[in-house]
Amino acid sequence: MTASDAARGFASLAVHAGQDFDPTTGAVIPPLHFSTTYAQDGIGGLRNGYEYGRSGNPTRTALQTQLAALEGGAHAFSFASGLAAEDALLRAVLQPGDEVLLGSDVYGGTHRLLARVLAPWGVRLRVVDMSDPDAVRAALAERTPRIVWVETPSNPLLRITDIAGLVALGHEAGALVVVDNTFATPALQQPLSFGADVVVHSTTKYLGGHSDVVGGALVLEDDGLAERIGFLQFAVGAVSGPLDAWLTTRGIKTLDVRMQRHSENAAAIAAFLEGHERVAKVYYPGLQTHPGHDIAARQMSRFGGIVSVALESGEAARRFAESTQLFQLAESLGGVESLVNYPDAMTHASVRGTEAAVPVEVVRLSVGIEAVDDLLADVERALRA
Ligand SMILES: *Cc1c(COP(=O)(O)O)cnc(C)c1O
Repeated sequence: MTASDAARGFASLAVHAGQDFDPTTGAVIPPLHFSTTYAQDGIGGLRNGYEYGRSGNPTRTALQTQLAALEGGAHAFSFASGLAAEDALLRAVLQPGDEVLLGSDVYGGTHRLLARVLAPWGVRLRVVDMSDPDAVRAALAERTPRIVWVETPSNPLLRITDIAGLVALGHEAGALVVVDNTFATPALQQPLSFGADVVVHSTTKYLGGHSDVVGGALVLEDDGLAERIGFLQFAVGAVSGPLDAWLTTRGIKTLDVRMQRHSENAAAIAAFLEGHERVAKVYYPGLQTHPGHDIAARQMSRFGGIVSVALESGEAARRFAESTQLFQLAESLGGVESLVNYPDAMTHASVRGTEAAVPVEVVRLSVGIEAVDDLLADVERALRA
């Protein structure tokens, strides 16, 4: 990317960063490189550093350049999944005995990775409500973690954390502040601009955007940490394959317009649900009644496509989740199609009975980009079921 590229608007970067046309043919779309190895001009004579498919691949480089530009970071690394990205970051930073202070309402798999994979290797885990600054302050005063890890908006309760405020607290304590930006995406929120040290993504969700590719990414500023992560990406090898990287790149090109429609549709669904007699509570940061609304309005340009809703009982929630038609009952989120998920028995089953458990009355909607009237009609009918 040239200096003038960096000054371009987000939607332009999404389309163009890392996507220079192919110099040999003029092909506007960069070619998909499947080659696992690269011819050398004499021993060690590498062309642009490419040697072997695990250590580097031009299609992966194109995606990483795009990701770095979108989050405004100096370095980006793409992995085979969001959890593979998280694992590489955690291993790059932590030593046995170090602690991670984790938001109470994070992706279930993140909690599982720490509690069941890394804890047996001596990593310690504490959980706190990151949207409550007093609770965070108290937790940091008690013991200094190596990492403070937050999701905002969180999954599935859409809690909002003031990123700049958390960064101030975390850095004062000497911890690294990590933001999982999967829900907001850089189209709506750029955590590095608020001082966060590392941004984590499951690119499986909005960045890929079409529910057809699993992937993950890390974006950061610090050169030393980037070197350690780059080493683990190579030495452990959970890299994205070329086709996965290419599909993710293609998805990202429409991220800006998709997030706009996701947010508009979600706002309409949230407003409808809030007034409905069968609904106990709506979780959507775009609603004035959401406790994090003002902070969200400051640090996000729109409020995103996820709406969670508490019904009258666990039974009502299950019935609703099984009654929608356009909203398909499935795990995951962030694709163009609308999905409904019952966290307690699906995405968050692994945190049942822990501090991170999700109330049984809660259903999570990933609001897609379909016609909003069709989505509203589907939700209304399922509420009456
Ligand atoms: C899905 C998800 C992950 C894990 O990503 P995978 O690509 O499934 O490994 C991490 N964080 C959040 C917020 C997610 O939604």
